[in-house]
Amino acid sequence: MMSIVAVVGRPNVGKSTFFNRLIQRREAIVDATSGVTRDRHYGKSDWNGKEFSLIDTGGYIKGSDDIFEAEIDKQVELAIDEADAIIFMVDVESGVTGMDQEVAKLLRRSKKPIFLAINKVDAASRVNAALEFYSLGFEHQYNLSSINGSGTGELLDDLVKAL
Ligand code: GDP
Ligand code: MG
Repeated sequence: MMSIVAVVGRPNVGKSTFFNRLIQRREAIVDATSGVTRDRHYGKSDWNGKEFSLIDTGGYIKGSDDIFEAEIDKQVELAIDEADAIIFMVDVESGVTGMDQEVAKLLRRSKKPIFLAINKVDAASRVNAALEFYSLGFEHQYNLSSINGSGTGELLDDLVKAL
């Protein structure tokens, strides 16, 4: 069985940019009535000779702020159920947000390996700002830029070792 890796996090942190950089081809998008399922994209990727299936979660979700948070929670719970490893993506531009803390709380209950990806660290000048994400309490923390690709290799090296 191919391992499954899910990318979770609040909207606009760069999950889809990261996903599109990594996948070689898209698998069929599961057609389901649930918005949560519809908003998941599957792709295949490999790193250091190890193949894995990558899930990009949570496209555009409409609704009030409350529904919105509930939808993210559902995505995270689905990821905890089905994934072998989880990439939790946050955004250095915004810093730690309440929704990041909410997602972190859910993920900390999971026994699955969690890789905290601090995205949009496009320049060395942003490395200091990334330090505040240690407050989320994850052991594996990576600074990266999904746009220019820097730092993604370090994350993937450790990720595939956990699969
Ligand atoms: P998603 O909602 O988490 O899937 O986020 P998207 O991948 O759609 O990206 C949201 C916005 O962040 C877009 O405007 C991206 O171009 C931008 N973005 C994504 N990755 C990076 C990055 O590494 N650096 C910068 N500066 N912007 C990024
Ligand atoms: Mg997206």
